Amino acid sequence: MTTKRIFVLASMALVAVMLYLWGHSDGREGTIAGPLSVSFAAESTPEFSPVKARARDFYSPNSEDLQRNEMRLIACGTGMPTARPKQAASCWLLELGNGDKFIFDIGTGSAERIAALQIPYNYLDKVFLSHLHTDHFGDLDALFVGGALAGRQKPLRVWGPSGDTPERGTKYAIEHLRKALTWDLDGRQGLTDPRGYHIEANEFDYKGMNQIVYQENGVTIRSFPAIHSLDGPVSFSLEWNGLKFVFGGDTFPNKWYGMTSTRRMPTWRFTSVSLPCRT
Ligand SMILES: [Zn+2]
Repeated sequence: MTTKRIFVLASMALVAVMLYLWGHSDGREGTIAGPLSVSFAAESTPEFSPVKARARDFYSPNSEDLQRNEMRLIACGTGMPTARPKQAASCWLLELGNGDKFIFDIGTGSAERIAALQIPYNYLDKVFLSHLHTDHFGDLDALFVGGALAGRQKPLRVWGPSGDTPERGTKYAIEHLRKALTWDLDGRQGLTDPRGYHIEANEFDYKGMNQIVYQENGVTIRSFPAIHSLDGPVSFSLEWNGLKFVFGGDTFPNKWYGMTSTRRMPTWRFTSVSLPCRT
């Protein structure tokens, strides 16, 4: 490139910069004169960076009011036992218009997703476990201890199935989880509010057919067997206000699951289906 050509190009660039600065003399002018005004007007940059909430074109959980007769389900986790940064394991938060909230499964990594919803922990004190695989209850300790530290001033109540032996049941699992946390909980005595450091295990017979395992405040939750791994896994249904939610947990399709639907009641069904492994 010749020296003369470089000089011409440098001069053109200098003129362009001067034209731009002329239009933005105090750093806030939004218009400039001349041919460049058309392209800058198209961008229509606001005078200041906006700080108010803007309209969204996507859904963000827990950002809409729940009406008194509505039921809302938030998938806090849908993953597997193998940890993934962006997908916690099974965890479903069901909220009712009367203010009741229920957690179905609390799989590994899901306590973080629950925390992100910024719901006071006193409302997150009821957990229903479909079975005792870690991707369905692996974050129970995090919700138990972390929830108490974050403001839950009442016991954490947990419902879950029996097994074919006492050692395979929910009560055994929770009693021993509590024992495993002895050092943790003892170290918090006298330093933090002790009211949340209690965990209540409500074990029920996994073989029950639509047996009622919870009935309070107009809400009825029933359990029925699921087909998955050993004996013990269950599915749940929740009825309230003429609405019904069915949570399968892990299960093969089965006749009991199909029997939960009714013609007179709008029903949501969620499940993860277990498929046989190829070895
Ligand atoms: Zn499972």
